[in-house]
Amino acid sequence: IIRFSNVTKRFGTLTVLDDFNFTVAPGEKVTLIGPSGSGKSTVLRILMTLEPFQEGKLELGGISYHEPNGRGAFRASERHLRQIRTHVGMVFQSFNLFPHMTVLRNVVEAPLAVLGLARAEAECRAVELLRLVGLADKKDHYPSQLSGGQQQRVAIARALAMRPRVLLFDEPTSALDPQLVGEVLGVIRSLAHEHDLTMLLVTHEMRFAREVSDRVCFFDKGRIAEQGDPEKIFTSPEQARTREFLQSVL
Ligand code: ATP
Ligand code: MG
Repeated sequence: IIRFSNVTKRFGTLTVLDDFNFTVAPGEKVTLIGPSGSGKSTVLRILMTLEPFQEGKLELGGISYHEPNGRGAFRASERHLRQIRTHVGMVFQSFNLFPHMTVLRNVVEAPLAVLGLARAEAECRAVELLRLVGLADKKDHYPSQLSGGQQQRVAIARALAMRPRVLLFDEPTSALDPQLVGEVLGVIRSLAHEHDLTMLLVTHEMRFAREVSDRVCFFDKGRIAEQGDPEKIFTSPEQARTREFLQSVL
């Protein structure tokens, strides 16, 4: 469902992704690990169309991000970008809820505006999603009235409201107090059981990664240095770099 082919991404003179190749099958659950600055967030941000890239090709669900326009630019047309955005949802480290909207409005806003659902239907589905993340009773609260873990669960419900085929998580529990991490991982774990949903997860929760992922990719300097079955990567990695990294975080 996702295919990066020889993608190069630079910030000025800094090359962040270097001739990067990466594919993800429909329904696959993939965890990205690696040192700070190795390009994990950049991969998710490019997928979410938050960052352009300079070279190579990227496709999601058969839609191309890459549309050379004859002037050397590689950004897809607005129409394609809008299409891509309806297929991808992202959950960030900082929950980014709209502070002036209730929980329910946070979840219904995008489906109303973008999918053009009727309000009654959008609200009905939003309540269902809030139930899924265990927060139906908080629907009329404002984000400031919720704990960090609850806010993050609302953010997950909000991402799901767009019915994405691909869900991206960038360190979804890193900003949480330790006692709130479990409830958010619990929601992500239940989503990981959904056969059709493709998930990409950046996390430092190695035990969790091992439990929910079909594949773990170790990033080093803008490339995937090693990838494979979680059991294999965590117990007998082949690369010295992977071993060093795992020793430093485990
Ligand atoms: P971390 O584990 O710390 O989140 P990461 O693997 O997610 O790291 P990225 O955020 O993808 O790393 O960043 C890769 C590199 O790109 C880093 O060196 C970072 O400083 C640089 N970078 C990221 N965003 C920008 C930006 N907007 N402008 C310039 N450089 C950037
Ligand atoms: Mg990051």
